[in-house]
Formats: sequence, structure tokens, C-alpha cells
Amino acid sequence: VAKRLEKFKTTIFTQMSNLAIKHGAINLGQGFPNFDGPDFVKEEAIQAIIAGKNQYARGFGVPALNSAIADRFKKDTGLEVDPEREVTVTSGCTEAIAATILGLINPGDEVILFAPFYDSYEATLSMAGAKIKSITLHPPDFSIPLDELNAAVTTETRAIFINTPQNPTGKMFTKEELEFIANLCVKHDVLAFSDEVYDKLAFEAEHISLASIPGMWERTVTMNSLGKTFSLTGWKIGWAVAPAHLTWGLRQAHSFLTFATSTPMQWAAAAALRAPESYYEGLRRDYKAKKTILVDGLKDAGFIVYPSSGTYFVMVDHTPFGFPDDISFCEYLIKEVGVVAIPPSVFYLNPDEGKNLVRFTFCKDEGTLRAAVERMKQKL
Ligand code: GLN
Repeated sequence: VAKRLEKFKTTIFTQMSNLAIKHGAINLGQGFPNFDGPDFVKEEAIQAIIAGKNQYARGFGVPALNSAIADRFKKDTGLEVDPEREVTVTSGCTEAIAATILGLINPGDEVILFAPFYDSYEATLSMAGAKIKSITLHPPDFSIPLDELNAAVTTETRAIFINTPQNPTGKMFTKEELEFIANLCVKHDVLAFSDEVYDKLAFEAEHISLASIPGMWERTVTMNSLGKTFSLTGWKIGWAVAPAHLTWGLRQAHSFLTFATSTPMQWAAAAALRAPESYYEGLRRDYKAKKTILVDGLKDAGFIVYPSSGTYFVMVDHTPFGFPDDISFCEYLIKEVGVVAIPPSVFYLNPDEGKNLVRFTFCKDEGTLRAAVERMKQKL
């Protein structure tokens, strides 16, 4: 393997899902729903295939999807964007992240991450030869240490990468935090990359897009996807919204990473994004019920549960059970209890910072969540 990827192993999500299968354990690890996406979206994909929408799509997206993304973005952020010049369809948000980083970051450029961070940010920054600086967010509320951030941003900084609502903590960046980041970006002429794939899974606070903070539109790439909102994580439809001068860079990377994204799925995605607001309300209501089952169960089982405002994840502290770190706790949980969770130490530059924590997901049907909770209450 190339040097720039030497330190990365099989992703923790793949490792844990494989262990779930091997031990017949209930999988509350990798974040994928064990229920299907809505029929009206699946039907659109079938119709698009039958209608012959099966050759390469336009590189930056089929026009109907670019427009649907622009309209949705306007509803969500109030910002009017040009679907032809400022919206790029990618193969999942993971590709939007890669295209953004590879298209806009030079080797040696410094990028700031907030730990714990989603694993692909670090790996892709490493592929781009970027220098990573990370600011650690601590429980219980994972708020930004503002002085530390202020000291970290210098003339060397090229970009700040945020994820709100944040995987794996469930933290949502507050308006004050976003304004603080915005002030630093403007002051030091820094770009912002914002992964907002969980924006529709905001339960305890209003989601705020970084791009909507004054001064930020012209320096922000906002990334999102269909997977979480429509329970279609296998479709791999994502996108990046950014002003034309930044879109140019990320499109150049996208052109040579994947060139284009699955044509029929893009047509179906366009229909999905036209769903009425009641769809999103239903989604949030269903997830809130699931979240209550998991959070109450984890508390009853004896975990210290940290508040999660958004995403379908919850972070807990496992130290009441006496294990030295997250890996050994998760091994015990799989083998002796029959439940899989994610050990989050890989989401830190210094793994020790995550050793007391474990991430659970509640994107599973209620029966599965109840069964997992019962196992933990009885066997932990
Ligand atoms: N985003 C999902 C999670 O955090 C997993 C994605 C993946 O497996 N790479 O669980």
C-alpha cells in the first residue's frame, strides 16, 4: 500500500460489521438502517431504468437533480444557488469529501479537524498530502474550546472541516460556534468544508448551515447526501454545493475520481428531494422513538450516556464496567453480550482520547433496538 495510506487499516465500520456477522451479534455499530427507503423513491429508480436512463450522466449531475438540490438548499439555508455552476453530484458524500479535498487542498496545506472526526476526513487529507491539526471536543457536551481554536488558526491554515450534526458525537454546532468559526475564516482567509449529511436528523436543536453565516457562502463547500435522509445508504448519491470558483476545483477532482454518478439513481434522487415536508417530519418522529428506546436502555444498562442532539448516533462512557479501553470493551460486548458498537478511538489523532467512549447507532427497527437493550441490561 502507498505510504500515504500505511497507517489506515480496514475501516472500523467494516471490521465491526464483519464481527457482527461472525458472532451473530446485533449490529448497533455501522450506521446503516436495517429497514428500507420509501417506495416512491424506489419506484422512480425502476421507472428510470425502464425508461432507458442508463448511460453516463452529465459529469456534474443530471439537470433535474442539480435543480432539486438547489431548491432544497434554498429552503434549508435561504441561499439562492446556481444549479449549473454551484451544485455537483457525487457518488455519495464520501466522494464529495474526496473531491473537495483533492480539488482544493495542496500538499503541505494545513487543515483543521474537530476530533472525534469521521474516518474518511483524515484518510483523504492524507491522500492529498495535507497537514492535519485537530481540536478535540470533550464530553459531556463536546463544545468547541474557543481559545484553542483561535490559537490553532494561523496564516498557514487553508481550511476548517466541520461536520454538523456530528458523527460520532451527535453534537450540533451552535450558532455562536459557527459565528466564531466564520470570524476566524474571514479574518485569516480560510476555506470551510461542511459535511451536513445528518441535517434532517436534528432532534434537540435547529440545524444551521455554516454557509448561511454572513461572510461564509463565498468560502464554504457544503456537502450532503441522500443516504441518511432517505434510508438508502447503498445508493451512494451525494453532492457538494459551493460558489463557482470552489466548484471548479472540486469538479476537476470529481471528473477524474468517478467522472459521473449512477444515472437512474440520480433521477430517483431528484424525485426524493421533492418530497413534501411531511416526509421529513415523519422521519424525525420515527427516529425520535428509536432514540428514546436506545438512550433509556443504555442508561438502564449502566452507561453514562452523553446528550446527542442530532445524527442517529449516541456516545456513551463505558468505564462503569471496568474495561481499560474502547477496543477491549467492544470485544467483550460482541462476544459475551452479543451486541456490536463502534470503538471511537480511531476518530482521534491520539487514540487515547477516545478510549473511554463507545458509539451506538439507533438506525435499526424498534424490535432490534429492544433486543439489544435487553441483552445489555442482562449481561453487562
Ligand atoms: N457513516 C457510517 C457510520 O458512521 C458508516 C460508513 C462506512 O461504513 N464507511 O457508521
